[in-house]
Amino acid sequence: MTDTTHALELNQIRKSFGPVDVIHGIDLAIEDGEFVVFVGPSGCGKSTLLRLIAGLDDPTSGDIVLKGKRVNGIPASERGLSMVFQSYALYPHMSVRQNLSFGLENMRMPREEIAQRVDAAAKMLQIDHLLSRRPGQLSGGQRQRVAIGRAIVREPVIFLFDEPLSNLDAELRLQMRVEISDLHAKLGNTMIYVTHDQIEAMTMADRIVVLRGGRIEQVGRPLDLYNNPANRFVAGFIGAPQ
Ligand code: ADP
Ligand code: MG
Repeated sequence: MTDTTHALELNQIRKSFGPVDVIHGIDLAIEDGEFVVFVGPSGCGKSTLLRLIAGLDDPTSGDIVLKGKRVNGIPASERGLSMVFQSYALYPHMSVRQNLSFGLENMRMPREEIAQRVDAAAKMLQIDHLLSRRPGQLSGGQRQRVAIGRAIVREPVIFLFDEPLSNLDAELRLQMRVEISDLHAKLGNTMIYVTHDQIEAMTMADRIVVLRGGRIEQVGRPLDLYNNPANRFVAGFIGAPQ
């Protein structure tokens, strides 16, 4: 019997690309409202795992369960998730308002509701004065806010972030880290945040999932991993200096 209180369950997820096994049987349950960070070195399968959750690709085997419902094979647009990427992928020829509205227009949402959601998200992200600009007229941080705004207006049950800050400079990264944590506090949604940055993981996560080579090395609260790393790899990545 599936526990429907979990926002997300991954049951024995495997993924191969041709002969290459990339994800080797991942089990994980994420609670409603949790901020979970997937951390691990480049190439360990973080993006692949996020894409499987999002429905942008399908696992080779294993089940993905959202709110008690198996969603394998269900298209991304019907899973009720929003993903924010490292590259903002904004439409350069559209205004910020149009960029924020576009996905909702495709869902045939009434105009007034679109405007309401866009205005609320823009206000929350403090980009309400930029709505008539085009992406080319924005700073990197403003563009990333628009990308996050595009995720917010869909009112997803889960937010997925794939290294959203890695293109930003150090100072802005710090600021956006705080803003995303504030956003989580405000919205209370389940968020899954992928990074290779240990400090992001330590400061943002309710729970950290440490990945290596397509396997989970350890799952736990930041301080528990820091104080009691399961092995040398976790210690080297997260733990206190040995
Ligand atoms: P991460 O996001 O942790 O850096 P990825 O999930 O992008 O890692 O990649 C994990 C592994 O899977 C890498 O070895 C990568 O080369 C491989 N991979 C990812 N996507 C594909 C694909 N579409 N085809 C073949 N190999 C892929
Ligand atoms: Mg990646």
